[in-house]
Amino acid sequence: MQTTTRLRKGDVVQVMTGRSRGKSGKILRIDHAKARVYVENVQTVKRHVKPSQKQPQGGVVEKEASIHWSAVQLLCGHCAKPVRIRIKKSDNKGMQRLCIKCAHPIGN
Ligand SMILES: [Zn+2]
Repeated sequence: MQTTTRLRKGDVVQVMTGRSRGKSGKILRIDHAKARVYVENVQTVKRHVKPSQKQPQGGVVEKEASIHWSAVQLLCGHCAKPVRIRIKKSDNKGMQRLCIKCAHPIGN
């Protein structure tokens, strides 16, 4: 089980497993404690909301649900598909993530 991730907020990822497989979106939030990510437009769940002051009618709202970070893979903008990455350390930029196929930097 992965205990750390190279993913960052704002990364565009594709879901590789589960019922949202094949969908892609931007990472909205990373929950490091639970090893889960929240991805835009992916894994939305409908929640029934009881009437409250905020929503007097109650009803159904769509919310992003979290997904385990091992189930998503970074999308390379250059290859236009999910790729593995490698880490390159450079003195002035710190850590850079490069596409393993085309060596294009990702999300920097
Ligand atoms: Zn690439």
